[in-house]
Amino acid sequence: MTDALDRHPGLPAADLHERIREVAFALLLTERRPIGPDEIAAATGSPDAILSGMLDRLAAAGWIDRDQAGRVTGSAGLSLTTGPHRIAIDATEFRTWCACDASGIAAARGADAAIQTECAVCGKEIALDTRAGQPPTDRPERLWLAAGGANLRGDFCDPTVLLCSPEHAAAWAERQGGHGRAVHLAEAARLGAEGWASCAAAAGAVRAGTGPSAGR
Ligand SMILES: [Zn+2]
Repeated sequence: MTDALDRHPGLPAADLHERIREVAFALLLTERRPIGPDEIAAATGSPDAILSGMLDRLAAAGWIDRDQAGRVTGSAGLSLTTGPHRIAIDATEFRTWCACDASGIAAARGADAAIQTECAVCGKEIALDTRAGQPPTDRPERLWLAAGGANLRGDFCDPTVLLCSPEHAAAWAERQGGHGRAVHLAEAARLGAEGWASCAAAAGAVRAGTGPSAGR
């Protein structure tokens, strides 16, 4: 992916890649509708022609979701269309690609959110309400953080799930060949707050009316 990104005259490739995902995330969270490439181009300062090819590559690699019109419907784990987990945040119901997205986004935004998913082992429904981004304490659920691999969705998102109990977390760990680790919900929130900090900051800037480029 770096060859095309490197042609952008401004930001280094990896930074622009990340910036596009942050901006798309921020606009999705605040606008709650599919985001046109022109809006992302304007917010990142990327020429349309370069951005268009970059969005194609990001979509092909699973880093964004798009609809048939080419608008972005998911980024940085937050999606209007795709994902088995649900999060109600800012009065909107979104899906997330993996369970850590849901807890991470709530934690980074410091949000009251309702997370819904199913135990990956027994299918039991799991509902968690966060308060100011923090999950309830003393809950038996565990988050499995997959170690990841070459394929974002297949190797990381899909196996990163919630389990209803330490026992089912152990069963999932065995199914995954130990390729990852189980963490308590509080640890999941702590890691998530770090992981989504830049996305949450971008969303805060959009909401404050200062634009997603503020602070850069
Ligand atoms: Zn279970």
